[in-house]
Amino acid sequence: MEEGMYGCPLVQKAIDEGACYEINLVAERYVKKAILGIIEKQYDICIDVNKAHEICPSCIRYPFG
Ligand code: SF4
Repeated sequence: MEEGMYGCPLVQKAIDEGACYEINLVAERYVKKAILGIIEKQYDICIDVNKAHEICPSCIRYPFG
């Protein structure tokens, strides 16, 4: 996998570090969900924020660990 890319168990795709961080900013309610639209388009995915809230804290890439 390319450097800076994460195999993301939440969306079942490789996403970049910045996308992972932004997903978690939304999951932790630091920023509004609207910012995810760009990532969803870029990767052609649908991000379930509730699922992110459950899955991300136990992921090795979790940025706030
Ligand atoms: S922390 Fe969440 S968004 Fe980041 S790679 Fe893991 S599952 Fe994906």
